[in-house]
Amino acid sequence: MTTEESTVPSNFIRKMVEEDNQTGKFGGQVHTRFPPEPNGYLHVGHAKAICLDFGIAAEYGGLCNLRFDDTNPVKEEEEFVESIQEDVRWLGFDWEDRLFYASDYFDQLYQWAVQLIKNGKAYVDSLSADEIREYRGTLTEPGKESPYRNRSIQENLDLFERMRAGEFENGTHVLRAKIDMTSGNLNMRDPVMYRILHAAHHRTGDKWCIYPMYDYAHGQSDSIEGITHSFCTIEYEDHRPLYDWFLDELGVYHPRQIEFAPLNLSYTVLSKRKLLRLVSEKHVNGWDDPRMPTLSGLRRRGYTPESIRDFCERIGVAKNESVVDIALLEHTLREDLNKRAQRVMAVLRPLKVVIDNYPEDQVEEFEVINNPEDPDMGSRKVPFSRVVYIEREDFLEDPPKKFFRLAPGREVRLKSAYYITCVDVVKDEQTGQILEVHCTYDPESRGGGTPDKRKVRGTLHWVSAAHALDAEVRLYDYLFSKPDPENVEEGSDFTANLNPDSLESLTFCKVEPDLAKAAPGSRYQFLRQGYFAVDPDSSDEKLVFNRAVSLRDTWAKIQKTQKK
Ligand code: ATP
Ligand code: MG
Repeated sequence: MTTEESTVPSNFIRKMVEEDNQTGKFGGQVHTRFPPEPNGYLHVGHAKAICLDFGIAAEYGGLCNLRFDDTNPVKEEEEFVESIQEDVRWLGFDWEDRLFYASDYFDQLYQWAVQLIKNGKAYVDSLSADEIREYRGTLTEPGKESPYRNRSIQENLDLFERMRAGEFENGTHVLRAKIDMTSGNLNMRDPVMYRILHAAHHRTGDKWCIYPMYDYAHGQSDSIEGITHSFCTIEYEDHRPLYDWFLDELGVYHPRQIEFAPLNLSYTVLSKRKLLRLVSEKHVNGWDDPRMPTLSGLRRRGYTPESIRDFCERIGVAKNESVVDIALLEHTLREDLNKRAQRVMAVLRPLKVVIDNYPEDQVEEFEVINNPEDPDMGSRKVPFSRVVYIEREDFLEDPPKKFFRLAPGREVRLKSAYYITCVDVVKDEQTGQILEVHCTYDPESRGGGTPDKRKVRGTLHWVSAAHALDAEVRLYDYLFSKPDPENVEEGSDFTANLNPDSLESLTFCKVEPDLAKAAPGSRYQFLRQGYFAVDPDSSDEKLVFNRAVSLRDTWAKIQKTQKK
């Protein structure tokens, strides 16, 4: 084993794959797939599945397909097909020429359905949807057989053909597998295989008016593609006997299905149906709203693919469900950007500081290092002049003793520039609001130190007023105000837990001129404020930044207290 391999933490799936490789079950081959339904945008839970599907294949020298399980024309759209491909690519994975669609297999699936009818293993049922549900029974009661269950093979073939030909309305007939209405597993109680849907499909157009159910299409699609290991989330464990049944009855190649626990994340919902509601009810501004747990939302927020892959590696893959602390996701981004993001100065809530003894027209440039973690990132020049902005919260007129920032009579360091001492405060006579603060500077402290080495506790970030660029900065809090958004009073739903303060938009921010070159998508550390990404809304007139994460690392804190 190479050292690189041995650093990969093991999980039960790797063990199972290795077992199969040893016994030669699949001839030592590993061929996986990521099978999204194109009915929404991908979220960070899907990232876990993608990293697993593509990651395991890569680790064992195998292949991974991207397959759209597009069996429901009513909920599926081309927009989703495109966004999903973009997101998988962005995460850093490549399906090469193996892009497939379940709809590519509709002909084969239809022929197989006919074969099952001919073998007496499927029948056309004419109960209504409600009746089928009623006849199905419950977990404690067996189901009842449909009066149509014993139609002749000939009649079934004829009806199924006419279903396909478009002779019947939606909901009048379905094709069902003939298994066992008394099975302890509800999925085995004659599940529906085909329903009539007079709807155009995003790829097959009007060719079909009957569509296979997901449970009928999924296992056979895996089989057609020669998938060796079919990973899926734990709720499909109860569907596995059904997938096995179809493959066995058809006598076709049989992949191995392995279930794992889905990702749950605190303060987050990860269900496409719920995310779709957030979008359609306009609780957020679209699928890529930076508060969304979608990959497009996280990308816009400032997340890097590396940080998300790192997160997926750290949470591991297990069989038992748990909730991952969202602080871990934030922590992985901080770790990544700490190494890579240029550090700059930006003032989010500006307060004007006039340096009385600094020459009116003088401008100096200070050489500032871009990232102390990475000398290769070089340095830049930051202009300084008589009027600068500092953060409003960095000044208090009447500060407590432990306040080490600016206050009347107190001295602070302006990062990489000079020491300044507050000598006066100008206020609005009517409102009492502080309009500007006057200071003097010590010319001896150029660059941030003095010959007498006197101690100054506070170091403030700043921008020169004459050189600053205007910016809008969007600060985010969690989209939900409870760690478990699903936890609600009876009669209400997860939207009751939406956090009304999840977005705070600051529209009068001042940032240093070096950010004029900041392209949408690029990421920065704003000193003392966190990590930020340039939003696609950004323009030359007004820069727009999203805060990805603050600098406060709650995850590191949690780890520390746990070690104690
Ligand atoms: P929905 O949320 O609408 O029920 P879904 O999330 O299951 O749908 P799919 O498109 O079927 O969406 O998912 C594609 C793959 O991603 C499946 O293999 C599924 O098991 C996996 N997946 C979905 N959600 C998660 C999650 N939270 N954690 C890990 N894997 C997930
Ligand atoms: Mg699904």
